[in-house]
Amino acid sequence: TTRIERHHYDVVVIGAGGAGLRAAIEARLAGKKTAIISKSLFGKAHTVMAEGGAAAAMGNMNSRDNWQVHFRDTMRGGKFLNNFRMAELHAKESPQRIWELETYGALFDRTKDGKISQRNFGGHEYPRLAHVGDRTGLELIRTLQQKIVSLQQEDLREFGSYDARIRVFAETTITELLLDGDRIAGAFGYYRESGEFVLFEAPAVVLATGGVGRSYKVTSNSWEYTGDGHALALRAGATLINMEFLQFHPTGMVWPPSVKGILVTESVRGDGGVLKNSEGKRFMFDYVPDVFRKQYAETEEEADRWYTDPDNNRRPPELLPRDEVARAINSEVKAGRGTPAGGVFLDIASRKSADEIRRRLPSMYHQFKELADVDITAEPMEVGPTCHYVMGGVEVDPDSGAAFGHVQGLFAAGEVSGGMHGSNRLGGNSLSDLLVFGKRAGGHAASYADSLAARPKVAVQAVEAAVETALAPLQRDTGESPYTLQQDLQAVMGDLVGIIRREGELEDALVRLAELRERVAKVSAAGGRRYNPGWHLALDLRNMLVVSECTAKAALERRESRGGHTREDFPTMDPQWRRVNLVCSLEGDTVRLTRKPLPKMRAELIGLFDRAELSKYLTDEELAEFDALAE
Ligand code: FAD
Repeated sequence: TTRIERHHYDVVVIGAGGAGLRAAIEARLAGKKTAIISKSLFGKAHTVMAEGGAAAAMGNMNSRDNWQVHFRDTMRGGKFLNNFRMAELHAKESPQRIWELETYGALFDRTKDGKISQRNFGGHEYPRLAHVGDRTGLELIRTLQQKIVSLQQEDLREFGSYDARIRVFAETTITELLLDGDRIAGAFGYYRESGEFVLFEAPAVVLATGGVGRSYKVTSNSWEYTGDGHALALRAGATLINMEFLQFHPTGMVWPPSVKGILVTESVRGDGGVLKNSEGKRFMFDYVPDVFRKQYAETEEEADRWYTDPDNNRRPPELLPRDEVARAINSEVKAGRGTPAGGVFLDIASRKSADEIRRRLPSMYHQFKELADVDITAEPMEVGPTCHYVMGGVEVDPDSGAAFGHVQGLFAAGEVSGGMHGSNRLGGNSLSDLLVFGKRAGGHAASYADSLAARPKVAVQAVEAAVETALAPLQRDTGESPYTLQQDLQAVMGDLVGIIRREGELEDALVRLAELRERVAKVSAAGGRRYNPGWHLALDLRNMLVVSECTAKAALERRESRGGHTREDFPTMDPQWRRVNLVCSLEGDTVRLTRKPLPKMRAELIGLFDRAELSKYLTDEELAEFDALAE
C-alpha cells in the first residue's frame, strides 16, 4: 500500500499568491484551522512578479477619483461583460484593502505630502495605482507573509505551536479535490521534493491557483501556471466562465529569444514611454477605436500635455486598454513596420532623464541590462504581445466567492476566478482584486465550515483513484514525453487560439486538442517519485488540456470580437453577445459549453453612464429599458 500523510483542517487554501494569502489570513482571523498549500516555494507566486501597482480609487493624486469612476473604468475596460457586482465590490473595497495592508506593514511610495502615491495606467481615468517603484507585488507578498508570521506568533503564545491554526505547505501540488456527494471533503496532492502523497481533509477549499499562461509558448507566466485550479474546479462539478478571454499583454520582451515573453511593465507607458514603429512613427494614434475616441488625444502635443495637465487634455493612446494596444502592435508588425526581432519600439529614453528612469523603473532597467544588454535610459526597448492573464475562471457568487455548479464548500479568488474583469482586465486591477476577493472568499469559507452540522467524509476509493492517477505516468514506459506534449499543446494554442482567431483554425485546434488528449492519457515520465519535474508536468498536462479545450470551444462559439477575444471573421462587438456568458463544464470527460445570460446591472449603477456611451454596448431592447428607467 502507498503511504499517505493525512492532515485535518477547517479551511484549505490552494495557492500562496495574494489571493490565497489574503484568504488564509481571513479564515485564520475567523478562528479556523487553515492550511496554505503552494506548488512553488513560499513567496514565489505570480503576485510577487507584479510590477506596476494595485488600483484603488483613494483619490490621492486627483480628488475627483472615487469608486464610481473606478467602476466605470473597469466596466469599460471589460467592454461591459464584467460581472457588475464584482466590479462594484472591487471598486468600493479596494481602498480599504490597501490601507489595511499598511496596518500589516506595507510601505508604498509617497506623495510629497505623505499620502500613498498613485500612478497612471491604461484605462484608468485618474492616477490610481498604489505602488512601490516597479516592485509592488514583492511588497504585497512580503506584507501578507509578515502578517501570517505575526498570526503564527500569536498562536505560539496561545497554543504552544506556530502551526496551531495556520500552516504553510510549500512545494506541494494538489492534483485532486475530494468530494462527499456534492460537498468538498478534502484535497489530495504530493510533495514535489519527495514525491510522497498527502491528503488534506477539510470541508472548505479556497482555490487561489492563478492563471493558465503555460499553455502558450510566448508568455509572461512562470512554470506553475498550468490552469490547475480551473481544472480542479471543473472536475469537482463547478463551472468556468469567460474562458475565451485571454489577455495578451502588449509589451513583452522579444529579444533575445531565450527571454521572449518576459513582461515589460505598463508603467513604462504610464510614466511617459511611447510606442514607435520601424519608421519612427507613434502609431497608436491610428488605432483609437470609436468607443474610446472621446477620451484619447488626437495629436502628440495634446498627449504630451496630458502628463502634466490631465484635466485639460486627453490621454495618450499608448494608454488604451491592453487588448487595443496588443492588436495595434500585431497589425504594425504584420504590415512590415516591425523591428528586426518582430516587435515594435518602446521608448522611454528620449522622454525621461536617465536618473528618473532608474528611480521609477529600477527592475526594468536591470532586466534589460542583464537579459538583453540594452540600456533603457539610452536606447528604446523592442517589445511585442505576450500571453499574460486569463480573464476567464471559476464562476462564483460575487459576494462570497462560492463556486457555482454542483459543488458546495468550494470557493475561488484571484486570477483563477472569472467574471470580475469581463472580456479584458485593466492593469492594476488584479492586485486589488486579490485583496478584495481573497478576503471575501476566506471569510465565507470559514463561515461555511462553521455552518456544517457534520463534516463531509473522504471516501477511501476516491483516495485510491487519486493515487492511481498520479502514479500512472511513472508506470508507463511506452508513452510520449511530457515535454513534447507541452510543446505541441503550446503550438496549437499559440498558432490557432492566439491573439487573432478564425473559425477554421479554431475548428482545427479542437481536432488537435482531442488528439492531444489521447496522447496525454498515455504520457509517460521517466524516473521515480523523488524530485521529478517530468512527472509533475505529466500531471499538469491534463489540466492544461481541459482548460485549453474550454478556451478553444468558447472562442469558436463567440462570434464577435471583444476585449481579449478577437475574431478576424467577426471583427466588431455585437451587443447581443454582450448579454451572454459562455459557461464551461465537464460531463464525464466531455467539455460542455452552454450560454447563460449576464446578470442585469442595477439601475443606480447603469445610471453612472451616459446614454451615448451605453448605446455603443447595449442592445436596443436594453436601451429602451434604460430610457424607461430614466423617465
Ligand atoms: P498567483 O500569485 O499566481 O499565485 C498562485 C499560487 O497558486 C502559487 O502559489 C502557485 O504555486 C499555487 N498553485 C498553482 N497551482 C497549484 C496546485 N495545483 N497546487 C498547489 N498550489 C498551486 N497585476 C496587477 O494588478 N498589477 C501589476 O502590476 C501586475 N504585474 C504583473 C507582472 C507580471 C510579470 C505578471 C506575470 C503578472 C502581473 N500582474 C499584475 C497580474 C497579477 O500579478 C496576477 O494576476 C496575480 O498576482 C495573480 O494572483 P493570485 O493570487 O490569483 O495567484
